[in-house]
Amino acid sequence: MDITQISSAIGTLSGAVNLVKIIKAGMNPLPDEIATSLAELNQKLINAQIAVMSVNKIILKQTEELRKLKETLSQKNNYSLVDIGKGRLVYRYNVPPVRGDSSDPISSEPPHYACQVCFDRDGIRSVLQRKTSPTPVVAGRSMGMFIASGEINFFGCLNCGTEFQV
Ligand SMILES: [Zn+2]
Repeated sequence: MDITQISSAIGTLSGAVNLVKIIKAGMNPLPDEIATSLAELNQKLINAQIAVMSVNKIILKQTEELRKLKETLSQKNNYSLVDIGKGRLVYRYNVPPVRGDSSDPISSEPPHYACQVCFDRDGIRSVLQRKTSPTPVVAGRSMGMFIASGEINFFGCLNCGTEFQV
C-alpha cells in the first residue's frame, strides 16, 4: 500500500463517516436499533481512520529512512576505505580525475578523510580534521624504542570524538 492508496482509503472512510451523519440527520428520531448500529459503524470507521493514519505515519517515516540510506550509500561511493597507519581505517575521498572540460566538472571538494565510525555506524559523513598535539614529544626512549622529537599529528572526528593518530 503506497501513500496514494492510503490517501484514497482515508478519503473513502471520511466519506463513510459523512454518510453516517447524513443518515442520522435524515431520520429523526432514529429507531433505537438503527441508532445503535450507526453508532457502532461510526466508531469502527473512526478506528479504521486512526489505523490508516498510523500506517501512513509509519510509511512516511520509513520512506525518510530509506531516502537517508540511499543518500549515505551514494556518498559512500565517493570514498574508499584506507589504512592511514597502524591499522587505523578511515574513508578517503576519491578525488575525481580532472579532464578540464565542461562534461566533467571539477569536484568542489578538496581531498579529505571521513570518519569510518560515523559513516558505518550512523550513516553520517563527518570530515576528519587534522590536529596537532599541544605538547611536543621529547626525543628519548620508551620501552626500548627510540622516540623522535616533534609534534604528534592526528585526525579527529568532531562528531564522535574518535582520534586517528598518523
Ligand atoms: Zn566519527
